[in-house]
Amino acid sequence: MIKVRDKIECCDFLVVGGGMGGLEAAIAAASGGADVIVAEKHNTLRSGCGANGNDHFLCYIPEIHGEDMELVLREVGNTLDGGPWVDIDLTRVLLQHTKEVVDRWESYGINMRPTGKYVFEGHSLPGQQLYHLKFDGKKQKGCLTQAAKDAGARLMNHVLINEILVKDGRVAGAIGVDISEEEPEMVLFQCKAAILCAGMGLRLYPQQNPTYMFNLPGCPADVGSGHSMALRAGAKLVNIDIPNVHAGPKYFMRGGKGTWIGISSTIDGKPVTPYVTGKPSRATGDVTADVWPSVYLDKMLDGTGPVFMNCTELDDDDVEYMRWAFDCEGIGSIFEYFDQRGIDIQKEMIEFGVFNCTMNNVGVEINEKAESSLPGLYAAGNQVGNVRGNLAGAAVFGMLAGRSAAEYVKTVAHQSIEDIPLVEEKKALFSAIWDRVDGAHWKEPASTLQQIMNDYAPALKPRTENLFRVCIKYLADLKKLCYTELMAENSHEFMRCLEVLDQIDLGEAVAVTGRHRKESRGRHQRADYKFTDLTLNNKFMVVHKDGAGEYHMEYRPRHMR
Ligand SMILES: Cc1cc2nc3c(=O)[nH]c(=O)nc-3n(C[C@H](O)[C@H](O)[C@H](O)COP(=O)(O)OP(=O)(O)OC[C@H]3O[C@@H](n4cnc5c(N)ncnc54)[C@H](O)[C@@H]3O)c2cc1C
Repeated sequence: MIKVRDKIECCDFLVVGGGMGGLEAAIAAASGGADVIVAEKHNTLRSGCGANGNDHFLCYIPEIHGEDMELVLREVGNTLDGGPWVDIDLTRVLLQHTKEVVDRWESYGINMRPTGKYVFEGHSLPGQQLYHLKFDGKKQKGCLTQAAKDAGARLMNHVLINEILVKDGRVAGAIGVDISEEEPEMVLFQCKAAILCAGMGLRLYPQQNPTYMFNLPGCPADVGSGHSMALRAGAKLVNIDIPNVHAGPKYFMRGGKGTWIGISSTIDGKPVTPYVTGKPSRATGDVTADVWPSVYLDKMLDGTGPVFMNCTELDDDDVEYMRWAFDCEGIGSIFEYFDQRGIDIQKEMIEFGVFNCTMNNVGVEINEKAESSLPGLYAAGNQVGNVRGNLAGAAVFGMLAGRSAAEYVKTVAHQSIEDIPLVEEKKALFSAIWDRVDGAHWKEPASTLQQIMNDYAPALKPRTENLFRVCIKYLADLKKLCYTELMAENSHEFMRCLEVLDQIDLGEAVAVTGRHRKESRGRHQRADYKFTDLTLNNKFMVVHKDGAGEYHMEYRPRHMR
């Protein structure tokens, strides 16, 4: 039997995931008087996509950028923080709150002005204003962890959340597992509100080198559990049918493409887009990887690839600057590798590749307070589907959620959770996995899942009705096998088992919604529906599951103002 903690952990507001968004939510809610617990799968000091640092913070400062919000929205809309898949009203809210986060982070000791003044660079098209503040985020997780503690939040490291408990149509608690010891321990949480900040969904698709499953552009612990928990709890998700791809050094997969000062070029050193002419600059870098990340594959397919990042025009100062900036962003290992292998980027170009689909910036639908459609459930960061902003998006909507939740919890009472049937169901499932002595370790379904997704709900190849049908059937088979065969010999493997089950749920939702979209759009290319249905322009597909587990999809207008 799975060990179950006697004590129910009780709080007003439960934060699921102590990454950048989660810690911001915790600080805001605890500062607003709420009793807050942060449940983090690893350790908030070094977890999530911001674990080792970030270095660009989307930030609008009226004194620098001007008061014309429409211009700002248009320009930011052209960067990786905009695009066609965000609600404009939420992007406005995001921008309006960025500066206060910057000020607060400075007060925590995060170096937002490494040169002593505000410097904006990267992630922008030539000729437009720059909105990405260059900062040094190496110490950011330590600073935010301390600030959360100072505000009174209780941090529970090595505790993952596996299920949001719902009673009478609102959040009542959560089911977690403490994985800090060799043997896992099931932990029940009672809370009035919760926020999902579990990051993006990685490892659903195989990446460029499937032998190394953890060679990924982002944090391997971010597997889309938040997306799956939201879906199972009945909250609405948005845009999860649209694959999202990222780009960077081929086979050496690291996020952080905005810090490269170079030009995406053909083998002959010719730029593949018109964005940089002449010597690349620190100010703009090359925005190609942001606005056309699949260029590296598209050029392979049309016979003109591979595409390389060309830094051969840089002088020594720029290369030193890049080294420093990579360090601020936590991707210093790239230069370590170059040094170990004697690679001189002033002499040789570095091949870039498109990384396979990550469930990033697709997921829970939120409003301007970061509320989901389920009362008491909030979401922020990479697992949100209708606003972006990356780090700034996570921070601002985490903060707004925390503030809103601190008020909301004053208006509702705690509910008992022991009688919620899901508690016993999960206890039985956890016990079956833990008690099994002969069965399948997590890697078997994990790699099978990646093959299914890549072959039948692909992100970089055409999709079809038949492929989706087969995908859904194979995923159901895989899930059944997991229920009867999954086993774990320690807490770590137990965590991986629960991750795989969450990933299967997310994969199924991707296939169901992809099947529903009977047109081609962006990276959702259907061989059987090659046209783009113009009636779906500026419409988002919203999906939720009802109590019986049935999917419901609808299109709603994108918020344009
Ligand atoms: C190398 C790299 C460089 C980047 N540079 C920049 C940059 O310069 N500027 C920028 O704007 N963005 C940047 N980003 C993106 C930025 O880091 C993310 O947008 C941001 O961290 C998202 O915050 P989040 O809270 O959504 O997720 P994360 O910060 O990833 O946090 C998610 C947390 O949830 C935890 N978790 C997952 N599942 C569970 C569970 N079931 N229970 C409990 N905990 C769970 C994880 O362990 C993790 O700590 C970069 C990303 C990478 C990978």
